[in-house]
Amino acid sequence: MNQRLDEEERTWEARQPRHCPKCSNTLISKSVNNITYDQCPNCGGLWFDALEDQKLAKEYGIDTGDPDAVSAYDKNRRINCPVCSTQMVSMIDIKHDYHYEKCQVCYGVFYDTGEFADSQKLTAVEIFKLLFD
Ligand SMILES: [Zn+2]
Ligand SMILES: [Zn+2]
Repeated sequence: MNQRLDEEERTWEARQPRHCPKCSNTLISKSVNNITYDQCPNCGGLWFDALEDQKLAKEYGIDTGDPDAVSAYDKNRRINCPVCSTQMVSMIDIKHDYHYEKCQVCYGVFYDTGEFADSQKLTAVEIFKLLFD
């Protein structure tokens, strides 16, 4: 993609580097309460893999809210999955009034933290609860 990508690929042997679907910065892998996620150091966007251990974290540690208020929502914002490069689908949760991007192939989720910038500051765990309920 660019010269920086080549450098990162040499240093990241465990897995492919991921780039923010919004601003293309390299995502930084983090983990809290058994939840693994990647965060963009530039725009603060969060990426969550749809992993088995994420589901376990949900079962054991996280009480989830009311699901199914989510419907497909075309916002004319086309971004690609940082893992499999599939074009992601904009989703909106009507009840909680937020939206996110979901990959229909690997089921990863990208959450733009800018969505909450004006109203409230949520932790990654709280956002995880919203996204995986
Ligand atoms: Zn970003
Ligand atoms: Zn994907």
